[in-house]
This record gives sequence, structure tokens and C-alpha cells, in this order.
Amino acid sequence: MPDDSPNSWEARADAHSFYGFTDLPTIQDRGTIVLTHGKGPYVYDVHGREYLDGNSGLWNMVAGFDHPGLTEAAKAQYDRFPGYHAFFGRMSDQTVMLSERLAEVSPFDRAKVFYTNSGSEANDTMVKMLWFLHASEGNPNRRKILTRLNAYHGVTAVSASMTGKPYNSVFGLPLPEFIHLSCPHYWRFGTEGESEAQFTARMAQELEDVIAREGAETIAGFFAEPVMGAGGVIPPSDGYFQAIQPILQKHGIPLIADEVITGFGRTGETWGCETYGFMPDAIISSKNLTAGFFPMGAVILGPALSDRLDAAAEAIEEFPHGFTASGHPVGCAIALKAIDVVMNEGLIENVRTLTPLFEEGLARLAEKKNIGEWRGKGLMGALEAVKDKDTKMPFDGSLSVSERIANACTDQGLICRPLGQAIVLCPAFILTPAQMDEMFAKLERAIDGVFAEVG
Ligand SMILES: *Cc1c(COP(=O)(O)O)cnc(C)c1O
Repeated sequence: MPDDSPNSWEARADAHSFYGFTDLPTIQDRGTIVLTHGKGPYVYDVHGREYLDGNSGLWNMVAGFDHPGLTEAAKAQYDRFPGYHAFFGRMSDQTVMLSERLAEVSPFDRAKVFYTNSGSEANDTMVKMLWFLHASEGNPNRRKILTRLNAYHGVTAVSASMTGKPYNSVFGLPLPEFIHLSCPHYWRFGTEGESEAQFTARMAQELEDVIAREGAETIAGFFAEPVMGAGGVIPPSDGYFQAIQPILQKHGIPLIADEVITGFGRTGETWGCETYGFMPDAIISSKNLTAGFFPMGAVILGPALSDRLDAAAEAIEEFPHGFTASGHPVGCAIALKAIDVVMNEGLIENVRTLTPLFEEGLARLAEKKNIGEWRGKGLMGALEAVKDKDTKMPFDGSLSVSERIANACTDQGLICRPLGQAIVLCPAFILTPAQMDEMFAKLERAIDGVFAEVG
């Protein structure tokens, strides 16, 4: 029961904070968890309760909640130069250095970077770049954006239109010109008797068909997360990117990898496109770009797109776009340190070391009679709850099974997230094997309790 005295943190949160992406019945039942601080992969609430955060904040706090190097980098930069923009031919030295570093760690031979404050804005910016570029090259009709059902690309009007989730219909979205292809989730969408290779071929054929129906000359670009994140941790079917990329290339459609979650180590390589063996035309980065210590997003343009955009901008003497805080010096200083921490202080190695333990833990829980599948890559994983394992039939939505599991986890001192009927885990890269065990032990007790009620 929440503490509902008027001065409680829970009541004060309710009184003046408008919740986003929050299950309101759960808040009514249980109250908001108001947090004060964190230590390693743990966070603490106003009542002194400790939670292991199995989701590393929102996928982003990969170095934990108190990394001294990151707070030092922030403090030092605040002392040196606490804010500046990147307009009118000026930018901070930190911005220059971060772009150099991002180009160096990108999979591209050459790259240019444009900064935003969030992943949504980075996708939004990339769409505007494509519209601008195609119009400048004499193809003003190349405006349609292809994404997939269940994709998550953000919440601005454009990036929400790219997101392939039904909840956006409450806003009258998607906007026209945003087209959603099928979700390449073989376990859920493969048909009776269809092999995974046949499924992948069907996904590729659908892309061909949509391009033929719409006309390649009307399509601006194709955006994809290497592993869908907020759609429920959905790795692509085998060979998916190898099947679709040649089709896009044939029709001159840029492939943009939305690596907001998969970038900087989540899948065990620096980039998800490396894990899946494809080369995109541009990369969208955010979340762990700053290890969650600063709001920042980036569009990283590969050589072809950056040359074409340079030419388009030169033709009208500027690219008329940017945010007040684009390339913020403190954010850039933090990102420079975060990249160093992830790539050079053993965090990616730890992702690789922990991955087998993580997969073992997921696979063990997937043996339960109400878990239909486990899936994942690197340190992002999900367990899909089902009423019937053989038919893959989901639970009745009114039972809110995954929500109940997440709440039971909270009672155990574990934070994890319900997504559809799946439970998602994406812990910090600094986790120890003992903390991994703690995470799965707590999750198992929660799952067992809920399945005893509903299974
Ligand atoms: C979180 C996310 C976004 C949106 O980032 P915000 O910073 O929340 O705007 C975009 N794409 C992907 C893949 C994400 O996971």
C-alpha cells in the first residue's frame, strides 16, 4: 500500500508530476517509487529500500549510477566551460573532440556527426536530413520512411510515426508517409511449417513488394534497430539484414541503423551492426553514448551520406537545423569519458564475459511452463510469458501478467520492465556474476509467485 498521507513523497509525486509511459493502476495501488541515489547497479528510494536495477535505468546507465570517472569529467567541464551551442560557426573544443572520437570508433572509414538532446531528436533530425538531401538532389518526392512494426524510434511527432506501436493511434499518428513493414520475430510470426530461412525470405519479399507498390522514387530511407529494444528485445531472424540490405541498395534507399540501445557495447560489440554483419549508411546514437549521465543524441553519417549532405548544405549555404544544446560541452566531455570507460576500462569485455551467464539464466527460467521463449543478444534479453507453451497463446490481457511480475520483482528489490507480455532485462555492463545470480534469483521468486496465481 502506498503511503497516502498528503506529505508523503508518493502523494507529492501524484500531485504535481504528470506521468508518461506509466501504468496508472499500478501507481494507484502501489505508489510512485521516488529514488534518491544509486551505487553501482543499485538504486535507493526515499524509504531507504535498495533495488538492483535490472534495466540499468532505461538501458543507458551502463557504467552504474555512481561512476567516479564520469562525475569527475562532468565536474571538470562545468568548471571549465559549462555551456555553449554549436551554431553560427562556433562550437566547443569538447564537441570537436567528441566528433573525432565518434568517427574513429564508428564502423565508417569517414564520418561526420550532428548532435541532439535525445534519441527521438536524432531520428527526427535524420529524417529531415534525408528529406533535405533528396529534395536538393532533385528528388523531392523521396519522402516516405520505412520502419517495422514493434520498432521503437522515439516520441516526437516524426519519431513516434516511425515507432511501430499501436499506442500512437491515440495521437492520430503515424503521420502520412510513414510505412511499417512486418516485425522479423520468427518465434511469434513464423507460420506453421515455415523455416527461419523461409521466414527471412518472406520479410525480404515484403520489402520488395512495398517498394514496388509505393515506387522506389518515393522512399527516403529505411530505419531499423539491429535488435528491437522497447518492442520487447527482438533480435532479427537469421540473415535478415543480409537479405534486406541488397534490396535497399538496388533501389538507392539509405539504411539507417538506430543504435540508441545497441550502440557502445550492449550486444557485445561496439555496434549492433557489427554483431549482425552489415554496414549501414548512418547510425543513430543516444542512451549509453553518455552512459546516461547527460541527455544527448547523435546522428553519425557514413561517408556517402555525409558527402551528399555537405553538397546539399553548400548549395543553400547552410543546413537550417539544430538544437540550442546540440553539442553541449558538458555532454561532450561526459560522452568522451563514457566511450573511454566502455571501450577501454573493460566494460565491453565484461558484457562478453557475462553473456553466457545471462543466457543461461534466461534459458533456465524459460523452462517454466508459462514462459514461451527467451530471446536476446549480449546483455539485452526477454522472457515471454504465455498461457500455453505449445500453442504460444498469450495470457488474457486483463490479467496484466508481465506488469504483475514486474511489481513482484519490485517487492523482491529488483527493477525490471514489462513489455507486452514479456519481461525485459538489460543490466549495467559493470554487473558482477554474483549480482547476475541475485537478479535471476529475485526474478525467479517473482515469476513463481505470479504463475502460482494465474498459471
Ligand atoms: C530510447 C530510444 C529512442 C528514443 O530516445 P529518447 O532519448 O528517449 O528520445 C530511439 N530509438 C531507440 C532504439 C531507443 O531505444
